[in-house]
Amino acid sequence: MSRRPPTAIDQYEALSTVLRLVRGDRARTRPELGATALLGRTVISQRVEEAMGLGLLEDADIGPSNGGRAPRRLRFRAEQGLVLCAVLGAAALDVAVTDLDGRVLDRRHLEWRIARGPEQTLDFLDEQFTGLLEDRDPERLWAVVIGVPGPVEFATGRPSQPPIMPGWDGYDIRGRLQRRWGVPVWVDNDANLLALGEARTTGLADDQHLIFVKAGTGIGAGIVSRGRIHRGSKGAAGDIGHARVQEDNSTMCRCGRTGCLEALAGGWALARDAVGAVHEGRSRFLADIHRATGEITPADIGRGVVAGDAWCLTAVARAAERIGSLMAALVNFYDPDCLVFGGGAVTGSDTFLRVVDHTVRSRALPLASEGLTIRSSVAGDTGVVGGAHLAVEALLSADALAAWAPGGSPSAVAPERLVAGA
Ligand SMILES: [Zn+2]
Repeated sequence: MSRRPPTAIDQYEALSTVLRLVRGDRARTRPELGATALLGRTVISQRVEEAMGLGLLEDADIGPSNGGRAPRRLRFRAEQGLVLCAVLGAAALDVAVTDLDGRVLDRRHLEWRIARGPEQTLDFLDEQFTGLLEDRDPERLWAVVIGVPGPVEFATGRPSQPPIMPGWDGYDIRGRLQRRWGVPVWVDNDANLLALGEARTTGLADDQHLIFVKAGTGIGAGIVSRGRIHRGSKGAAGDIGHARVQEDNSTMCRCGRTGCLEALAGGWALARDAVGAVHEGRSRFLADIHRATGEITPADIGRGVVAGDAWCLTAVARAAERIGSLMAALVNFYDPDCLVFGGGAVTGSDTFLRVVDHTVRSRALPLASEGLTIRSSVAGDTGVVGGAHLAVEALLSADALAAWAPGGSPSAVAPERLVAGA
């Protein structure tokens, strides 16, 4: 988006700050806003009026008094806008409609193979989105967000050589959806959306750093630093699944290389090994499933862990050790406050967490691992909440507000003006 003239900066910086503080529940009255944002009473009063004019703030109940007349509390009107979000996996997808607080109003989990390619998949998403908007005011749609299980060039919204998404390389997902929906579209890696959803759901402080490791069928990670997703220069940051962790060339990966972390510890690799174990007679639990369904899924291995199957317990512990070993190096490198695991059938198990915790703490520098929280996700296994926050926060930035606020709504301006550089 082109930079607005410098004369307008203060107004939209202040408006963005006021909206961010009230929306994040960090200031609830005009005096609190003034004290937190270090802005004068007149500026606060004018920006609150402006936000009310946009339908984004309203006066609520009376707040606590500091001796004088008690100030009115302000409320962020999350119902003023809607976000449509879809997070695609290899064999299923989640679609949801949320309000401007990232609260899910309606959602669907559907079987869908991403290998059917972008045209069919995006047609299918259009149908689902239309269904989710039924009985809602389409004029209130602010944005569409798509999460995909592969690397995304964030500036253009195009997947970049995604190993498990045949036909999607370089596809202009943003352009296709912006033409259909007429609102700004963001496309991001699914692990980034999971990381942001976790940070916002748990109220991660702006000065804290979080790494979310998605260990599902594949493996990826998202990083939230100083309140924002850290994507690096192009969007590749956090893509740890294809880091080489085994020196010999014996284990092929889906990406065409050998020895990748996900080829040894990803859900698809565990399922591959499980079939071998069944043929060698090493797990009766899995043999029964294989006989009944003809396959083994990562979810079956998760059930085996719960059931106490020895092969499943050993396989998950070995995967956790391999993931933990790489994460110990990344903890040294990045020094996060919080390391969160989620997105898979095995990441929530005690065995996985215990082994990963032990491996990270025994191998990372004491200074980096001291006070480090290692836990499983509380925000859930889908990135739709993170997707909603991504879009809303981008649209409430000073640059975006300068572009759309004069027209009254994000849908009043060309979407291209709102998406770049978010
Ligand atoms: Zn690989």
